[in-house]
Amino acid sequence: MSTAPNINRQRQALLRSLPSVSALLEHEEVRDWLNGLPRSSVVAALQSAVQDTRERILSGEITNEPDSHDLLARAEADLLVRSMPSLRRVVNATGIVLHTGLGRAPLCDAAIEAIVEGASGYCNLEWDLSTGARGSRSAHARSLITSITGAEAATVVNNNAAATLMILRTFAAGKEVIVSRGQLIEIGGSFRLPEIFEAGGAILREVGTTNRTRLSDYEKAITDRTAIIMRVHPSNYRVVGFTEETSIAELAELAHQHNLIAVDDLGSGALIDFADLGLPDEPCVRASIEAGADLACFSGDKLVGGPQAGIIVGKQDLIARIEKHPLMRTYRVDKLTLLALEATLRHYLDLDEAIKNIPTLSMLRASTDELARRARELADQLAQAIPGEHFFVCSDVGFAGGGSLPAKELQTVVVQWRPEHVSVALAMKCMREAEVPVIARVRDDAICLDLRTLRDGDFEAVVDAIITAASEADDPPRSGISLPII
Ligand SMILES: *Cc1c(COP(=O)(O)O)cnc(C)c1O
Repeated sequence: MSTAPNINRQRQALLRSLPSVSALLEHEEVRDWLNGLPRSSVVAALQSAVQDTRERILSGEITNEPDSHDLLARAEADLLVRSMPSLRRVVNATGIVLHTGLGRAPLCDAAIEAIVEGASGYCNLEWDLSTGARGSRSAHARSLITSITGAEAATVVNNNAAATLMILRTFAAGKEVIVSRGQLIEIGGSFRLPEIFEAGGAILREVGTTNRTRLSDYEKAITDRTAIIMRVHPSNYRVVGFTEETSIAELAELAHQHNLIAVDDLGSGALIDFADLGLPDEPCVRASIEAGADLACFSGDKLVGGPQAGIIVGKQDLIARIEKHPLMRTYRVDKLTLLALEATLRHYLDLDEAIKNIPTLSMLRASTDELARRARELADQLAQAIPGEHFFVCSDVGFAGGGSLPAKELQTVVVQWRPEHVSVALAMKCMREAEVPVIARVRDDAICLDLRTLRDGDFEAVVDAIITAASEADDPPRSGISLPII
């Protein structure tokens, strides 16, 4: 039986046998790394491999003499992780078209080209080419936004939260804003309407009850301190059953009778009529302006399908006052956003062009036949690449948006994989940690790859990630309930 001093002596011997970083740097393999990578990164990776092994010797985890090949393998894995950008492409197999965690709307080709072209060199961001004098950055998207929405004027800020805040700061600081209790929303990522009101210096006057708010409730709440009557689209939840909401047309009429401003926070803000396209209905910006809203605001990266932005449309004099507010400077958007936004919006001048070219719209509109055809193609590729695993094409119900959009159900098609030799949790982890990470969803203890958000160019990455995941081994998988196979 070994005694404590013996163990210590053994560990000391193992520590002494650890190669030094300078010795490791002499390996041919490491010299190759130095050809492509900064010396400081290589040294850091070697140091951390040595340090890690030292700790594992001291804890008793390693009892054999450390092998320099193991050390180099560790350092190489470390270098690979370190050399990868933190923010990078992932494959969205969740089926959630507007997933805030995955960057919401993928941009259309025209937006990407505009960014590359306009941002690789200089651009006329604040330069009026006709006069040769200083211009305004918000002028660029303005005429497109007004012609698409029918509004008199428009301006762009960083996101819709900033848009709401700018409206409150400009018109309701120290004054009251009337909002229906049923619309006091919290959107994922800590956007809570009452808190935005507080930050905007406005006093929130809640009216009605959670499920019913009548025009008379708003009317009774008007005082000489009231500045705004506001409707907020309850984007991520629904009040169902015995409900009553007051339309923006009625609210606008009431506001105007009392010389108040009617504001419509549309959330997603559809630029085209979704019901006409056979999609779940969504408030349309043009309809809100036509109904009399003085100001409406919406996100650039939800249903519009563009870059992150907050778009404010409405009456010329009101927009001018917002633009003159000193805080506007803190919410202004950069050239990348404006380049992408203008290119995206241009597609909306022609409905067919918009549907064809804007990825969010084509994903939302994809038919189940089309999704099933592509699912069979992916399932075939997977089955061929990974013998012994089974991939089924199943129908399922997906959602349009994550925290940022109505929980609207969409009939969809998935490739379902219940791994033979690995748990679902471990397989999901491997897929997430693949070279191109693949984010899927789990249902009934099976991994579901939703074709609605998978693009053809993603198939290769999905196959690669699943090859790696399938070769992992841990507890045997449990069986679950099956989705209907189609
Ligand atoms: C999403 C949403 C917001 C926040 O928009 P961001 O562009 O994410 O800042 C505000 N209001 C409503 C109703 C929304 O749906």
